[in-house]
Amino acid sequence: MKKQKTRSVKSASNSSKQSKSRAGKRSAAVPAARAASAKSTGTSPARVRAILQKLDEAYANVNCALVHETPFQLLIATILSAQCTDERVNKVTKTLFAKYRTPRDFAAANPMELEQDIRSTGFFRNKAKSILGASKKIVEEFGGEVPRTMDELLTLPGVARKTANVVLGTAFGIAVGVVVDTHVTRLSERLGLSRNTDAKKIEQDLIHVIPREKWILFSHQLIWHGRKVCQARKPRCVECTLEQLCHAKDKTV
Ligand code: SF4
Repeated sequence: MKKQKTRSVKSASNSSKQSKSRAGKRSAAVPAARAASAKSTGTSPARVRAILQKLDEAYANVNCALVHETPFQLLIATILSAQCTDERVNKVTKTLFAKYRTPRDFAAANPMELEQDIRSTGFFRNKAKSILGASKKIVEEFGGEVPRTMDELLTLPGVARKTANVVLGTAFGIAVGVVVDTHVTRLSERLGLSRNTDAKKIEQDLIHVIPREKWILFSHQLIWHGRKVCQARKPRCVECTLEQLCHAKDKTV
């Protein structure tokens, strides 16, 4: 979800004011996808609306693919999902969450045993350390409950903005930012929504062009689109709902 052949975000932002004005004169009945020129690029409001409309049509009710029943389970699953597929994580957590039921259980886990429990997700030593550290902190400092603010979540070992945004958005419905994972990074570049490669900067770019009420759903939609259609090595552009709006260098049509 990296370099951009489309206009820079900055220059697109300048022209977005003009585009907004033009878009405002169009009839509300004109679908956003048609209102945006097929040749349009960058982050003009009309183009962003068109992208969002297409994503809504294709992925109306998508959610996080990590299986969980509680915010804490989602936190653990998200830590495990680094450099690992959601499918693999879901297999591992199926037995993991039966063995360790509460933050207290995880906090009291034998480190070496926990490492083996999560081994197949990769980077298991670091992940076990993060899970143990985060669980202990949640038990000792947050009364056994996953905190609900970005600042508090970022104090937990192994938790950076991506994980915090996943937990806040999916578990609590709180939109503080946009989840930027590998899919969101790749698609943001291909769709010309950001020319940055650093996740924090990409998130800031997206926050400026995506309406806040869309932040949670938008990241789920990009993640699903990245998995199913806009894949890293060979994007399936011929099947892509965004094809008319996309000017990626590596388009396959
Ligand atoms: S047209 Fe191709 S590169 Fe562009 S978003 Fe769709 S699948 Fe990705």
